[in-house]
Amino acid sequence: MKSDFRIVVLPGDGIGVEVIDATLAMLEPLQARHGFRLGYDRRPGGAHCYEDTGDAFPDSSMKACEAADAILFGAMGWPEIRYPDGTEIAPQLDMRVHLDLYAGVRPIRAIPGLPLPLASPHAAEIDLVIVRESTEGWFHARGHGRRVTTPDGDEAVQDPCQISRKACERLFDFSFRLAQARKRRNPAKGKVTCIDKSNVFLGMAFMNGIFRERSAHFTDVVADHCYIDAYCLNLIRRPWDYDVCPMENQFGDIASDLGAGLVCGMGYAPSADIGDRHAVFQPSHGSAPDIAGKGIANPTATFLSAAMMLEWLGDRHAEPTLLEAAQAIREAVDRVFAEGRARPADIGGVDGTAAVTRAVIDALAP
Ligand code: ATP
Repeated sequence: MKSDFRIVVLPGDGIGVEVIDATLAMLEPLQARHGFRLGYDRRPGGAHCYEDTGDAFPDSSMKACEAADAILFGAMGWPEIRYPDGTEIAPQLDMRVHLDLYAGVRPIRAIPGLPLPLASPHAAEIDLVIVRESTEGWFHARGHGRRVTTPDGDEAVQDPCQISRKACERLFDFSFRLAQARKRRNPAKGKVTCIDKSNVFLGMAFMNGIFRERSAHFTDVVADHCYIDAYCLNLIRRPWDYDVCPMENQFGDIASDLGAGLVCGMGYAPSADIGDRHAVFQPSHGSAPDIAGKGIANPTATFLSAAMMLEWLGDRHAEPTLLEAAQAIREAVDRVFAEGRARPADIGGVDGTAAVTRAVIDALAP
């Protein structure tokens, strides 16, 4: 039985540092109570690391990630600190490729008690997961874009999109397995909707064909399809109809922000980047320079990401106590908002990071 886990902690920039410190405080009382230990290995990386040292993500940080049981990540990037070519510092994108973290898991769940932006009473039923392919798609263009001259002599840039069979197969298999697991917990679930633009792009038609091939191996869940444009409309009209939604990298990047908006914003949207050997757990939000240093960052998304980390470790090591701890975090978060024990600034309240953290720690107490 494994009960000691080595967790690499990458706070990064801006509110990344604030929500990570809050999350480590929240995890503290859980460890003794549930009988496991998280050994933290805090490592540098991010835009300010680049500014200070000329290196956005030292090799030693990447090596530590390779050896870790799991990685807890805040946020990296800062608009004013950029590479000479004008692009932002985003070591998390390199990490996804280096550690082969192909499934970007973005749960979009309505937390009871939050003032949801959609007026329909069904909004309280929103519980879907965007699975963002995270190693290629349009993000393949990073480092592969090229300047060209058009046939009529204009200057242009071509950013190539890559859709490979391997990436599609593992993305869809992951999504079908996730839908099976969700159906086991809730029989109303168990649907995978492939989101693409297969009516226009060859790569997307290829992707859609692989989705249909793989669906034949998972006949106990429903395989459905929606074009990305119609999906955006449906996310506003009837998001409660969706369950697991795999899609190309850039589509997933955009749809997950839209999804977060449906459940009160980035402060409530956890995420995990998962591969076959490694996994990084982080809030969906960035470093939020507009609120950094003010003590008002909402740590809820990172708490829920830490719950995903414990659940992933628990599944991987067949360790039920970690699954119980993950569930305890989710229940404590739900209780805090359902009972109005905290009202963070991002929903018009007065509670900052410390007050929300205290409320969740109190709600965790037996
Ligand atoms: P990135 O491109 O790095 O993902 P972004 O441009 O999407 O970042 P974010 O940093 O995610 O931007 O912030 C988007 C908006 O949401 C900002 O107004 C920010 O203040 C707000 N926001 C993000 N995270 C939180 C949080 N944890 N608590 C409160 N507000 C947040």
